[in-house]
Order: sequence, then structure tokens, then C-alpha cells
Amino acid sequence: MSKGLLIVISGPSGVGKGTVRDLFVNDPELNIAYSISMTTRKPRANEKDGVDYFFVSEQEFLKAVEKGELLEYAKFVGNCYGTPKAYVDKLRSEGKNVLLEIEVQGAQQIVDKCPEALSIFIIPPSIEELEKRIRSRKSESEEVIQERLQKAIKEMDLISQYKYVVCNEDAELASELISVIIKRHIN
Ligand code: 5GP
Repeated sequence: MSKGLLIVISGPSGVGKGTVRDLFVNDPELNIAYSISMTTRKPRANEKDGVDYFFVSEQEFLKAVEKGELLEYAKFVGNCYGTPKAYVDKLRSEGKNVLLEIEVQGAQQIVDKCPEALSIFIIPPSIEELEKRIRSRKSESEEVIQERLQKAIKEMDLISQYKYVVCNEDAELASELISVIIKRHIN
């Protein structure tokens, strides 16, 4: 059995990565398994441990880094995020295409380690629309909203490191485009 594809999706906080992902991730033709990250961020009201993230303490996160258990990791607006390596390796060896939804520094680490990875960056139609989407989530303080917006502007400078850029003006259309891109790479 051939090894599954590694798919990296990035995009600024609030761009709608989760909404777009949910529209294509269960398409049986794509044969995707979603990699659940580890984070030191506190769960949002609708998030579940082991489903959205593995929510851990800083100490637990550092231990995973020291033991080399993370495929990549990065700090993002005061919290740490990382991809548990063993799970990704296991799924890929079973032929699954593994989807990582991670920020730009982590994506750079993946592109360096696995140049064959399929990388896609999702952009918002505009910064104003992005701000509207972050605010509608009603989960962050004004300070964090501003930090996330500044971060988004900086992240968009790095889109040239990705193989594809998809605009999320409409989540269904963005999801369809991403499905087509993935199908091209797995067939
Ligand atoms: P949020 O706090 O909004 O869930 O995520 C913040 C950012 O961290 C998002 O851009 C998300 O894609 C990214 N992220 C989530 N998991 C990981 C991970 O395992 N590694 C890295 N580098 N970034 C991640």
C-alpha cells in the first residue's frame, strides 16, 4: 500500500478553515484523516478535548517537544500548538491522506521536512471581512482580536511558500476547489 499524502492547510485565524474543512473532509473519495493537534490554549465553549484539540498544560506540551513527539510546533498569539507525529505516521502508513490545519511557521517546518506535502493557503476576501468573522465568533477579547488581525496581515506575506492559494468568499466553493486540488494529487 502506498503511503498517504500529507496535506497542509493554513490561513489566518477567522478565515473559516474549520467550516471549509468540514465540507470536504468526509468525502470518501478523498480518504482523509484529520490530524488533531495539541495546544496549550483553553478550549472555546463549543470545543471538545480529543476532537478539536488535545488541550494540554504548558508542562505537558514542553515534555512532548523534549521527547521529539511533535512533527512540528509553533507559538501563536501566546499559546503553543503542535502536531503529534506518531498518529500522522500511523495514518499515512495505512494509506490515509492526513490533513494538518496549522499556522504558517509550522507549515514551513513541514514543507522543509516533507517537500512532497500538498500545501494550501486559504485567504479571506478582504481584511475587513476577516475582522467581521473573528468578531462574530465572540470568543476573544479586543486585545486578542487585534493581535490575531495583525498576525493575519503578516501571515499573508508568506503565502508564496504554499503550492495553492484558495479564497474563502464562499465556503462551499472553497471546499470544492480544495477537493479538486486534493483529487489531482492523489490520483
Ligand atoms: P485557534 O486558536 O484559532 O484554534 O488556532 C490558532 C492557529 O493555530 C490557527 O492558524 C491554526 O491553524 C493553528 N494551529 C492549530 N493546530 C496547530 C498545530 O498543530 N501546529 C501549528 N503550527 N499550528 C496549529
